[in-house]
Amino acid sequence: MAEKGGISVQTEHIFPIIKRWLYSDKEIFLREIVSNAADAETKLKHLVAVGQASGIEGDYRIDVAVNKEEKTITVEDNGIGMTEDEVRQYINQIALSGALDFLQKYENASADGIIGHFGLGFYSSFMVADTVELETKSYTDAPAVHWVCNEDGEFEMSPSEKTTRGTKITLHVTEEEKEFLEADKLKGILTKYCGFLPFPVYFTDETAEKAEASEENKEKSETNESPVNDVAPLWQKMPNECSEEDYVGFYHKVFQDNQDPLFHIHINADYPLNFKGILYFPRLGNEYRSLEGEVKLFYNRVFVSDNIKEVLPDYLLMLKGVLDCPELPLNVSRSYLQDSDYVKKISAHIVKKVCDKLAGLHNTDLEKYQSFWDDIKIFVEYGCIKDKKFYDRMKNIVLFKTTEDQFVTLDEYKKTEGAVEGKIYYATDLTQQSVYVKLYKDQGIPVIVLDQLIDGQFINVIELNEQNVVFQRIDAVTDEISDKEEASDEASSLSELFTEASGKSDLKVRQTALKDASVPALLNITEQSRRMNEMAQIYGMKDFHLPLEEILVLNTENEIIKKISNDKDSETSKAIAKQLYLLAVLNQRQFTAQELQTFMEGSYDLLGKIN
Ligand code: ADP
Repeated sequence: MAEKGGISVQTEHIFPIIKRWLYSDKEIFLREIVSNAADAETKLKHLVAVGQASGIEGDYRIDVAVNKEEKTITVEDNGIGMTEDEVRQYINQIALSGALDFLQKYENASADGIIGHFGLGFYSSFMVADTVELETKSYTDAPAVHWVCNEDGEFEMSPSEKTTRGTKITLHVTEEEKEFLEADKLKGILTKYCGFLPFPVYFTDETAEKAEASEENKEKSETNESPVNDVAPLWQKMPNECSEEDYVGFYHKVFQDNQDPLFHIHINADYPLNFKGILYFPRLGNEYRSLEGEVKLFYNRVFVSDNIKEVLPDYLLMLKGVLDCPELPLNVSRSYLQDSDYVKKISAHIVKKVCDKLAGLHNTDLEKYQSFWDDIKIFVEYGCIKDKKFYDRMKNIVLFKTTEDQFVTLDEYKKTEGAVEGKIYYATDLTQQSVYVKLYKDQGIPVIVLDQLIDGQFINVIELNEQNVVFQRIDAVTDEISDKEEASDEASSLSELFTEASGKSDLKVRQTALKDASVPALLNITEQSRRMNEMAQIYGMKDFHLPLEEILVLNTENEIIKKISNDKDSETSKAIAKQLYLLAVLNQRQFTAQELQTFMEGSYDLLGKIN
């Protein structure tokens, strides 16, 4: 005799709510139903393990099938199953009140972008179906039960013919949601959410099979049958059980990226954090590649969400990887993630692991570390700027490239022969600053190259945090490349000649004997005034212009300077002074249009004077 009933008073409310649940998230019904199936297998496996169930064969499996003609999706497991009483208790009561609770709490949360809808459970099937059937046979000998429920919450329970252990759920899909009857779409959803469940999940497109299958074909396809999931995901293993190939293979498969990652970090955090994961640093070499990473969040192997930005600090957002966090509360929302202490701890743990990994590589495989430094440099520097803790952990393994193409750490630079106590000399443009590069090289002073925008901010951070370290660009005012300064009447009239030639009445001129006699004049800018202006540019303060403190350095050892200082009043000397000033400018920055014009005219004039 069939038992009939209506599912409690409140049910008239629940079904309409489920039906208009977050449109974009309808697909999670499959996750809910298939994870219930996996739970049923786990429970039975446990009972077998503790000796409370016997005579059970261990071929646990889950079968998902779609039938477009019949308009059904079925999910069948051979797990623990349910007796009639259990259906009454778990499906008619617990599942329903669970779903009600869930909906009451989260009905208004859609705007917040809920990422894990666990809890809506079994009844989420009504998002896509108007009738749901359940046939189940308990692992005990109790008779099988057939339960069917319509979208008004009216159910009917009767005996079932089912002879095999486990539960089969049949969803009769509505006309509106018939897109879920497309085999490719459904299989895609299944793979996305259930791709790493611990029991093999098989997918069958019954309509296609019926259309195509001659008997031989069918046999063939059966023998080739393979699950859609990977029952032993890499992150669940211990790092020492995984080879480099395993990690790279997993990366290609999960992120569909043909390039190999630079390196990976396998995290196995115990109590109290209790999460597992593998994070990859992707190769970023090509500037057209997106810098945005992707972290997939799992809850006990069930996929929850893509792109969990909240678990990473922004300087590590290019990481790709998987995180399995069974401790995250159910139904987490983005704003929850942003405020959660637990998530902050996960994030801090990841940062620490990244630093440990890099330090380990630096110490044990320096060549490899150097080989991908260019790829990680920007992120490391950005991290150091944003996060003092990260800076403290990384500062000893940040690399700088010298003009000789050698990698050095800050400490190594300081210890390099020729280094000047407390000073780090750097070039930002090897072409424009080539004259200075040569001067320093001849002088035996090591110079590093800082040619990226972020370097400017990064060196500020180092100067703030380290004592007795000052960075100075090689074209800044310095004593290191000169011997002695001249100050005489002679000298001051030469200065006047150049001030006039430059057209800048406030130009400071300094005369000094450079150790290299071949360079007649250099234009130095004080490090401070140049940096202030650069900063203003970075922050978009267009109208902010501090006067650059420019100093023209005349090399008293140079033959041309000697020549014109003996003949200061002649027109030729004036013309030469103008050209020398402009040549000095050229080593410092680009010409303005006016300067270029003057320089060209001056050059033609001088060339015309050569006999
Ligand atoms: P939850 O899985 O969060 O407990 P559900 O609403 O999804 O909530 O399911 C309610 C209960 O119904 C489950 O706890 C379980 O006892 C029972 N159940 C659901 N699906 C199955 C199944 N495939 N096999 C056995 N029991 C099931």
